[in-house]
This record gives sequence, C-alpha cells and structure tokens, in this order.
Amino acid sequence: MADLNHTIKVKARCTFKNDKGQRCKTMTTMTHPFCEDHTRSELGFWIGQSTVPNAGLGLFSSNKYKKGDTIVEYAGEVITTKQYNERYENSGYGEYGMTLGTRRVIDARKTSSGLGRYVCDAYGSEHKKNSQYEEDKGKIHIIAIRKIKPGDEILISYGKEMRRAMGIQPEKSKKDKKKKKDKKKDKSKK
Ligand SMILES: [Zn+2]
Repeated sequence: MADLNHTIKVKARCTFKNDKGQRCKTMTTMTHPFCEDHTRSELGFWIGQSTVPNAGLGLFSSNKYKKGDTIVEYAGEVITTKQYNERYENSGYGEYGMTLGTRRVIDARKTSSGLGRYVCDAYGSEHKKNSQYEEDKGKIHIIAIRKIKPGDEILISYGKEMRRAMGIQPEKSKKDKKKKKDKKKDKSKK
C-alpha cells in the first residue's frame, strides 16, 4: 500500500506548538500533521520499513493497545464511488482508496491524509494482523484486534473486496510464488 511512486506528496510545516506557542519549523512530507519527531512524541507513531517483504513503508507504534482500542483513523479525501472510478480508471493508481459504505470512497493517495495510509497488509509477513478497519459515522478507524506491544508494526488485512476496490492485484498464492518456470539456458556463458 505504501508504494510511494503512486502517492501525491504534500509538503507542509509541522503544526506542533510548544508551551510558549512557538510553532515547530520542520517541514514534513510523510507524517502530517506533525514532523517525524513530533509524530513520535505527540502521537506515538513512526513510519519505517515494513516488516512485510516488499511492502515498502509501514506504521509502527510506541504505544500499547488492547483489543478494541482505536489506533488511528484511515483519513483522506471523501469522494463518491463514481468520482473515484473516474479518477483512477485509466491510471490504476487507486490503491489508497477505501470504500465507505457503498457510495463513497476515502482516497488517501495524498501523503497529507494521515498515518492510517501507511498500515500494511499482513499478507506475506511472519507476523499476524493485529488490527482491522471499522466504519463508524462516516469515518474508518483502524482498531486493534489483539494486544499490540510498543514497537510493533500495525498490520491489517485489506480484504478481498477492498483489494479489488483499491485496484490491487489479487494475491498470488504461495504455490504460484514457488512455481519456477523453465529457465532458458544462457548459451553465451559456455
Ligand atoms: Zn515538529
């Protein structure tokens, strides 16, 4: 999900203010609304290389959560399904879209959408998913489904339906991955 090639990078100044009302001067592209340091100190999250192979960046938490806790919102631009389809029918870059009911989609393609967009699908990881999407009052939250320890990556299952809506290729089964095609022998290397 966190394939940065398809994201729209938004650069903005960190919104953190100290006790004296002085605003942080650091610019951020990835961790809106705060810079990396203040995302850690204020929210308890950081973005790092995902533990899921080839998944790109992932979301890690320095907090602990118990089952049922809200971890983070999956935020973004709320548009209609029709607008969403028109936006991505040609490019196929709709992997940040999350269906909201049947008529709306949350498009988190912009990096300013918040941290929920960095949560990776646990598929292919040695870790189990520890969260799930839950819709409530026109918002989608990422909720803990098991105990999460400080330092753990937040992992989820996008689900088949969601994947399709998101324009992600269906998962290859482990069988397919292991299947080796007959290799052509390189005759020039005799
Ligand atoms: Zn800051």
